[in-house]
Parts: sequence; C-alpha cells; structure tokens
Amino acid sequence: MISIPYAWRNNRSALAGSFCNACKLTWYPSSKACPACRNSTNPVELSGKGTIVSITTVHESSMPFMLAIIKLDEGPQVTAQIVDTPAAAIGSKVVACLRRMQSDGAQGIIQYGIKFRGV
Ligand SMILES: [Zn+2]
Repeated sequence: MISIPYAWRNNRSALAGSFCNACKLTWYPSSKACPACRNSTNPVELSGKGTIVSITTVHESSMPFMLAIIKLDEGPQVTAQIVDTPAAAIGSKVVACLRRMQSDGAQGIIQYGIKFRGV
C-alpha cells in the first residue's frame, strides 16, 4: 500500500525500484542492498510498463478478479491485479495505475495501491 500524499509529495510514480551498478540489474520493490550481490543500489523510478507472463481469474470472493505476473520493461516481475482489461491475456501490454485497495469505513482513510491495466 502507498499513500497518495506520499506519491504527490515526492512527485514520483508509485513504482520505485533500485539498480545495482555491479550486477546491472533492476529490482522491485526497491532495496538498499542488491539481493544478488549485496552491494549498495541506487534508487530508480520504473516506467510501470510491462507484459503479462501469467494470468488467472480468482473466484475466492463474490467479485472475481484477474491476477497476473507482469514482467516489467526494466526486468523485475510483479504479481498484481489486472483492472479494466477484460481481454487481458499472456503477452498483453499493461501499465501500472493507482487504484483503491481498501477503505476504513464510509468516512475513513482510503488506501491506494498498484494495479495494472491494458494499454
Ligand atoms: Zn548486485
């Protein structure tokens, strides 16, 4: 979960990753140490663009939803919900978007998170 004010305050997209100069690999979510070689990393903002490599429909609740593994253009893979794209399939191009994840009652705090939609 991320907060909209945090994203606005830092004037950045919600996909903050890290890049290892030793391995030349990009990681998401960001990590101060490279998960492969343990060297320090530099923060990078990811494009949010990617391709679906696996997708399924989850029927656990009364509102079925699509869950996919997305290979981001920068390399890392992300598991996320697919929205607004009923024809999404393996190979579909998608982009990250901020969507409501949950709210704390009718007048409570609304929490946002990353989902993906077709492009
Ligand atoms: Zn590394």
